[in-house]
Amino acid sequence: MAGVRRLRGWPVLGRDLAVDLGTANTLVYQQGRGVVLDEPSVVAIEVGSGRLIAAGHKAREMLGRTPAHVHAIRPLQDGVISDADVTERMLRYFVDQVRPSRLVRPRMVVCVPSEVTGVERRALEDAATRSGARRVYVIEEPMAAAIGADLPVNQTAASTVVDIGGGTTDVAMISLGGIVNARSIRLGGDEIDEAIIAHVKSEYSLLLGERSAEDIKVSVGSAFPMTQELSTRVRGRDLTTGLPKTVTVSSVELRRAIEAPVLQIVELVRATLDVCPPELSGDVIDSGIVLTGGGALLRGLDERLRHELGVPVRVADDPLRAVVRGSGRCVEEFGSLERVLVGNRQF
Ligand code: ADP
Ligand code: MG
Repeated sequence: MAGVRRLRGWPVLGRDLAVDLGTANTLVYQQGRGVVLDEPSVVAIEVGSGRLIAAGHKAREMLGRTPAHVHAIRPLQDGVISDADVTERMLRYFVDQVRPSRLVRPRMVVCVPSEVTGVERRALEDAATRSGARRVYVIEEPMAAAIGADLPVNQTAASTVVDIGGGTTDVAMISLGGIVNARSIRLGGDEIDEAIIAHVKSEYSLLLGERSAEDIKVSVGSAFPMTQELSTRVRGRDLTTGLPKTVTVSSVELRRAIEAPVLQIVELVRATLDVCPPELSGDVIDSGIVLTGGGALLRGLDERLRHELGVPVRVADDPLRAVVRGSGRCVEEFGSLERVLVGNRQF
């Protein structure tokens, strides 16, 4: 790393970047500047030519409403990289927005979910390299989330972090700068949206798009009873008449509708705590669990976990940005956080 330190701040090489390439959102942190990009992980591709028409917010607007010749895709939807070529082009598109010129090749810290296979990880590293990084460092996502949530990752006492993204949920216990115990499932906020779509379809014969389902989740979704239950009006297409229709759904019925994916998240956390070394169990009772990722914002999820597991649970500040904040911290403190960065490769 001596060489790396020497290169720090050399202007022509640009400021280093940290990238959280999430299944739902991609965020980029730039050294000395903070979060400079926060866009949905969506691209719009022209069918036939394969040309990338738009990425991020603009492409997300097109999800579910594109004309026949345009495809709006979420290349990371089901976990890691489901479409390596499109993922790479999306990443390059985003990185190009933040680097001053193509000649500038920053170092890049990239997050990978804790349970990726070697092949998937390699695909991410290659995508990062081809998007213009001169050197790629990998950090495990739960570690980045824990650092971003200000947990004391280098201490002996274990910290527990649960990161709930669009397509994945990761639970990890961290002590002395390493992951002691981790579990991951390919299920997250997307499955909650799908459960809402299925419920509204079977209960009201109403067809909803992904984005409407997500809006409903954000406005009235919950994982634990509320003192004041909510309701919202939902618009979609009536399956029998084919015409637009509006119905009112309550938070109580939605809670039942999304119970299956919520329960899977709860059980994943329980299973991770169940198999942890006994010394660490005591730490969890003291320090509790911190929730990160957009899924942490589901109303009452913290309460539900507290209720089921009997340990303190809190939501990190700005949970959608915890991972990129944590990887950003690594970029700012490359030297001192070197040991949490794994598999660094020279190109
Ligand atoms: P990823 O890391 O996979 O890109 P994020 O951490 O960005 O995922 O979280 C995206 C998920 O969080 C989506 O499923 C989104 O619907 C969900 N989400 C965002 N805000 C809320 C909210 N207020 N309530 C419930 N879920 C939310
Ligand atoms: Mg994430």
